[in-house]
Amino acid sequence: MISATDVPAQSPTNVAILGATGSIGTNTLDVIAQSPDRLRAAGISAHSRLPQAIEQAWKFRPRWVVATDPQAVAAWRATSSELPPETELLTGADEVARMVSQPEIDVVVAAIVGIAGLQGTWAALEAGKRVALANKETLVVAGPLVMALAAERQTQIAPVDSEHSAIWQALRSGRKSEVRRVILTASGGPCRDFSPAQLAEVTIEQALNHPTWAMGKKITIDSATMMNKALEIIEARWLFDLQPDQIQVVIHPQSIVHSLVEFRDGSVMAQLSPPDMKLPIQYALEYPQRHEGVSERMDWSRSHHLDFHPPDPERFPAIPLGLEVASAGGTAGVVVNAANEVAVAEFLAGRTRFNQIVAACRAVLENHNFDPNPTLSDLDRLDRWARQEVLRWTLA
Ligand code: NAD
Ligand code: MG
Repeated sequence: MISATDVPAQSPTNVAILGATGSIGTNTLDVIAQSPDRLRAAGISAHSRLPQAIEQAWKFRPRWVVATDPQAVAAWRATSSELPPETELLTGADEVARMVSQPEIDVVVAAIVGIAGLQGTWAALEAGKRVALANKETLVVAGPLVMALAAERQTQIAPVDSEHSAIWQALRSGRKSEVRRVILTASGGPCRDFSPAQLAEVTIEQALNHPTWAMGKKITIDSATMMNKALEIIEARWLFDLQPDQIQVVIHPQSIVHSLVEFRDGSVMAQLSPPDMKLPIQYALEYPQRHEGVSERMDWSRSHHLDFHPPDPERFPAIPLGLEVASAGGTAGVVVNAANEVAVAEFLAGRTRFNQIVAACRAVLENHNFDPNPTLSDLDRLDRWARQEVLRWTLA
């Protein structure tokens, strides 16, 4: 008879984390730190915050650190700080692709912000790696191409975005053909109850003051404009192969119900947990298994109050914009994403007003030459075009 102690311990899953110094990246390392027997940080990438990645390397002892920002590399070389002896430094954005395709890597966490995350995600899928996807912009820009590549390489994209993780979990209760619709929850962000006049005057500090989630700056501004929910509608469309009319948004200020799936008999399955990204990260890394969690738990010994109400499309035009882009497909996603990335950066630099962000995205969408079946190089060209074009619409 074989006892449990005779079973050889499985070697840990080797994880590459793209964007290790960000909010998702550091949460991923927290999850890995709690499960050293099951998970190992085998490779990490960082952009401007290279010194932070060096510190992470001393703690997690990865095989590779990829530094994608040449200025940060030059600044670091001027210091006397060193990497652990077993860690190799790879420099330049192209090295991300080389790292993720190493045979040693089992799963790649795509946690770079913006379209800059597409290259590494694409390379990981091409190499047949499982991808834990936080970088929603990848699917917004190139959803059909990315999903086709994953299918061709017979690999899995595991959502990290909390709403999509919730849907993924709830979908396990029925068949795809039995799904009537999915309902994405949105906290509504810090400007949820603002009047149109107040929305015209939102300051950078107000927009960065998210009521329930602590995240990177870009997604925090996206949450305030509700563009984050627009991006998530598009993400859900491609990730779960849904029709746009199967996707609905509901405001849920407490951020406890992370999304819902309604089946055709009327049954609605929800996933609940306190707002903490470590749970969807752990689920994506260890799917289909569930292990002891590192996240805070619901306290059912006290009262809870959960609200749900419909979003106001007049005050938050990002929601209808997201549904429209999800319906259009083709090149609609790439131009809206690029316009939004630049408009958010302009807002954070104090050069445009809060309520111009979504309006500028719509203007760029309406001014572009729509193509229903773009190639990757078409997407790249339109991304660069939209980054210029949006500046005509963000002038204060
Ligand atoms: P962040 O700004 O905190 O971190 C971004 C990471 O990307 C950093 O490690 C940075 O070094 C790296 N990076 C930035 N620009 C780069 C470039 N040009 N090339 C290579 N690397 C670059 O962002 P975040 O909040 O962790 O979000 C990361 C992604 O996850 C985004 O796509 C976001 O929408 C998504 N997401 C985040 C959360 C969250 O809770 N933070 C939740 C759901 C989805
Ligand atoms: Mg989300």
